[in-house]
Amino acid sequence: MAILITGGTGYIGSHTVIELLNQGYEVVVVDNFSNSKPEVIKRIEEISGKKFSFYKVDLLDYIGLEKVFKENNISKVIHFAGLKAVGESVSIPLKYYYNNITGTLILCELMSKYGVKKLVFSSSATVYGMNNVSPLTEDLPLSTTNPYGSTKLMIERILNDLVVSDPEWGIVILRYFNPIGAHESGRIGEDPNGIPNNLMPYITQVAVGKRAALSIFGNDYETSDGTGVRDYIHVVDLAKGHLKALEKVKSEKGVMVYNLGTGIGYSVLDVVKAFEKATNMTILYNIVDKRSGDVDRCFADASKALKELDWKCEKNLEDMCRDSWKWQVSNPNGYKEN
Ligand code: NAD
Ligand code: UDP
Repeated sequence: MAILITGGTGYIGSHTVIELLNQGYEVVVVDNFSNSKPEVIKRIEEISGKKFSFYKVDLLDYIGLEKVFKENNISKVIHFAGLKAVGESVSIPLKYYYNNITGTLILCELMSKYGVKKLVFSSSATVYGMNNVSPLTEDLPLSTTNPYGSTKLMIERILNDLVVSDPEWGIVILRYFNPIGAHESGRIGEDPNGIPNNLMPYITQVAVGKRAALSIFGNDYETSDGTGVRDYIHVVDLAKGHLKALEKVKSEKGVMVYNLGTGIGYSVLDVVKAFEKATNMTILYNIVDKRSGDVDRCFADASKALKELDWKCEKNLEDMCRDSWKWQVSNPNGYKEN
């Protein structure tokens, strides 16, 4: 029996595939390479010493995806595939709704058809919106501020409705906080297109000399040093959370929702200082205007995942900085030409 991983050559997917292969799971990956590269497949096989099946298929291609279900004995699905850039989702909302929501609908329809009713879905802390106070618990009211976030919230609702209609389904919704870091080998990591939107890839590109200085978005937030506070989680810890979620859907039905975060909030300046300490480098920065839609503080109450999944983070901010840097310095152009 195999685990189907959609979006398995992406940042979080690739790290999860490695953990699954390391634990002896049979893995089938589907990706359309809209935000990842074929090179990732080689690197996963190199790190794990194992092979897996790969299909270059778009989730919007019903016939192509059905072939994957026909040709493999799939027992469970981890669904990472989706577009994820907040700013881009504001410019091209229809593409985001179509890709993320229709892709999920087609996937779930095929899962139903082939009797595969165990799903782990990648949601995001963005569904907590602007109005909740951290630490965030899973039962808080949800809202969103951009089309990307709305796709996540809508998919969560669709999955809830699916379980109401057919209680045989077991679905774990994972709300990720801020994944950073990379595999300790430095062979796989986050490979953003163009100018990074997120903090850590921007910092590593300043460190490697690709960008002049970090722009810090605001220093008058209601936080200890005025800069925004987030819950950064090492991508390998996050990947391991998916193995726990698979165990959960194996034994339980219904929808189960978990925050995957450390429960600790760090400010932008904390991250800059931790990066400097971990790498012995200096990061130039300027304070600029706030970015619209940013909240002061966003960090998890991670106690439900500890209690019900027996999962918690093992790596600290220094590990995250060191591993992000190792990936960046050994792959200055990401997966392109190294
Ligand atoms: P990523 O872009 O690196 O990986 C997503 C993968 O899905 C890519 O390889 C892309 O090519 C693929 N994909 C997209 N649309 C597809 C389609 N229609 N058919 C087939 N493949 C498709 O992103 P990531 O950071 O690994 O994120 C994985 C998931 O976690 C996403 O759903 C994302 O929204 C969610 N998430 C990410 C973060 C984060 O900060 N990285 C935070 C919260 C939630
Ligand atoms: N941030 C920043 N400069 C950047 C990118 C991000 O100051 O170039 C800040 C941002 O305002 C937030 C934190 O870093 O407080 C994390 O931002 P990121 O985009 O990585 O995650 P998100 O805001 O989606 O949680």
